[in-house]
Amino acid sequence: MSYSDYEVVIGLEVHSELKTKTKIYCGCTTEFGGDPNTHCCPICTGMPGTLPVLNEKVVEYAIKAGLATNCKINEFSKQDRKNYFYPDLPKAYQVSQYDLPLCYEGEVDIEVNGEMKKIRITRIHIEEDAGKLIHESGEGSLVDYNRCGVPLIEIVTEPDFRSSDDVRCFMEKLRTILLYADVSDCKMNEGSLRCDINLSIRKKGEKELGTRTEMKNMNSFNFAVKAIQYEAKRQMKVLDEGGKIVQETRRWDESRGITVSMRSKEEAHDYRYFPEPDLMPIITSKEKIEEIRKTLPELPDSREKRYIKDYNITKYDADLIVASRNMADFFENAVKNAKNSKAVANWIITEIYSRLNEEEKEQASIPFDADILTELVNLIEDGVISNSIGKKVFAECWETGKRPANIVEEKGLKQISDDGQLKSMAQDVIDANPKAVNDYMNGKKAAVGALVGQMMKATKGKANPQMVNKLLVDILDNM
Ligand code: ADP
Ligand code: MG
Ligand code: ZN
Repeated sequence: MSYSDYEVVIGLEVHSELKTKTKIYCGCTTEFGGDPNTHCCPICTGMPGTLPVLNEKVVEYAIKAGLATNCKINEFSKQDRKNYFYPDLPKAYQVSQYDLPLCYEGEVDIEVNGEMKKIRITRIHIEEDAGKLIHESGEGSLVDYNRCGVPLIEIVTEPDFRSSDDVRCFMEKLRTILLYADVSDCKMNEGSLRCDINLSIRKKGEKELGTRTEMKNMNSFNFAVKAIQYEAKRQMKVLDEGGKIVQETRRWDESRGITVSMRSKEEAHDYRYFPEPDLMPIITSKEKIEEIRKTLPELPDSREKRYIKDYNITKYDADLIVASRNMADFFENAVKNAKNSKAVANWIITEIYSRLNEEEKEQASIPFDADILTELVNLIEDGVISNSIGKKVFAECWETGKRPANIVEEKGLKQISDDGQLKSMAQDVIDANPKAVNDYMNGKKAAVGALVGQMMKATKGKANPQMVNKLLVDILDNM
């Protein structure tokens, strides 16, 4: 069989650290880094006799994430112990949620290569993060418990993905939604957003799911894509050669570009979940849920539709703008009093985005307020300055934060729209460029472009190009 006879099926378990100031069951800071074992107390290091107290913000943020992904919310929810031993888990159990998660049955729309797709969310539950093992000391392994007890949400999807493209689009979309909801900083390099990839294959047309493997803790979109592509091919090869897929956990080895087996399901954990006896059930009233809903900003999908409809911008442009909440907010503020909304979008997509590096794009740390862009767009719209002068003014705004109108005034950048002045300049340019004039007379109408260029040069870009063009053609046609 060839690869095209198979279908890839993927389901994700996404972990995201919530941006609460303190941990889920104690008052320790959640700040990333810090000297090892300095962000800890008897509760998060699991000392006997300590009792956890649930951080209310964790529940609020998890419900917020659930509402932002169209989930239903369980008004009665509880926490459970998931028992396993590992050195980074000092209690030898993790408090998580088993049968009554906070959120369930959600969905997220994604667009993959121009096609709309729905990804169903099975559930979102809260749990505590584990510590970190450090293996590179040369003296055995060391453990840092700073991360122990940092609150996580786990977002579990149905097996609705069919390709690495699907997964990438979803992860990007989910990240944007969580950033809009302001519940996680989603820094993949700090591990605050990471996903486990469950992958199986089946013959096209088959209904039943194949045996899956799981790749844990992918913390880069690029690695995830490579791992999926590799693992799908590996499974196809196994089946083609008459073998069977073993249900197991595999690890993506980036340096070798392959997945390797870590443990098979036979050695898999039996977590012995049971209700956490030290914590009360989580009861959330309908009123509270509505209160939390009100703290959500308008989300990217809705904004995108509104921008296309109300501001006459393309889907492509709207997509780029809503990718960052700060940029979307900036756009909305700038467009409010602008005389040309499409121009506002253009400035953002060309000049602003090209000045921000990847990291800044997300934060959209623009060095001036939105009304500066409004002012610039209106100066151009009113014909006070040309578009090309506008670019120079923009660059200066970016560097100095000065207002566009002031820059135009100080530097004398106003467009020359005085008919008489331009007419005499046009005559001079025509006299000085007999070749272009001759070409024009011989039917090469495009030759007027060279003359316009000369005029713009002579006025340092300040002439009104439409007027210049018209004046030149008038004179030439009457020669
Ligand atoms: P576990 O808790 O053992 O990891 P779950 O049944 O909760 O297992 O599934 C975890 C994830 O695996 C979900 O995202 C689910 O959609 C996905 N999944 C389950 N079965 C398959 C399969 N056969 N192929 C691909 N993904 C699967
Ligand atoms: Mg799993
Ligand atoms: Zn603590």
